[in-house]
Amino acid sequence: MSQLDLRLIPVTPFQQNCSLLWDTDTMEGVLVDPGGEPEKLMNTAKELGIDIKEIWLTHGHLDHAGGAEDIRKALNIPVIGPHKEDQFWMDTIEQSWSQYGHAGMGKNIIPDRYLEDGETLTLGGTEFGVLHTPGHTPGHVVIYNKNLKIAFVGDVLFRGSVGRTDFPKSNPQQLIDSIKTKLWPLGHDIRFIPGHGPMSTFGAERKDNPFVADHISNGPTGNTSGVM
Ligand SMILES: [Zn+2]
Ligand SMILES: [Zn+2]
Repeated sequence: MSQLDLRLIPVTPFQQNCSLLWDTDTMEGVLVDPGGEPEKLMNTAKELGIDIKEIWLTHGHLDHAGGAEDIRKALNIPVIGPHKEDQFWMDTIEQSWSQYGHAGMGKNIIPDRYLEDGETLTLGGTEFGVLHTPGHTPGHVVIYNKNLKIAFVGDVLFRGSVGRTDFPKSNPQQLIDSIKTKLWPLGHDIRFIPGHGPMSTFGAERKDNPFVADHISNGPTGNTSGVM
């Protein structure tokens, strides 16, 4: 079995965790959520000798998807994901960055392929599963590998928190359901890379996350603070 390596590269004023994930045998890689600073991301890959083959997006928010178009053009590679229901977010990335006072930070994007629940993605010799996890955005997906015990969860779940649900088409109950019925069954020992902040495990969040811990029957009904 081939070995994978991972480097987190925070991008944009929102310090979004872009993941550079690569196969150390073939030196082929993917960028998960290249939200901005495309030159920095491509230069990092180049310095490490990684050939970026695809871009994978967890959801359509500006800080996750805004750098994808420039990288797609520069490297001539496909953008895959999220679910089609997030296209309305990807159509307003340029406008949203302007509203945040960072005009030009990212570009609108239409992916080459949308993702559905149950589909798979491949890097080198490794397959990844896809889960449709609406709530933060309607077209959010989580990308995972059970053998490697790793999941890219975007803004569904954070260390000690959950994604914001005060956006258009957000749904707090749907978010909690996505976490409990889609993520938890993958196992306590899955390490997850959130869109912002430090990594954690599903087991740790089930123990003490104030929104979704097992001992909380009715946690806060939604998170309205924090980042995109
Ligand atoms: Zn988001
Ligand atoms: Zn985000």
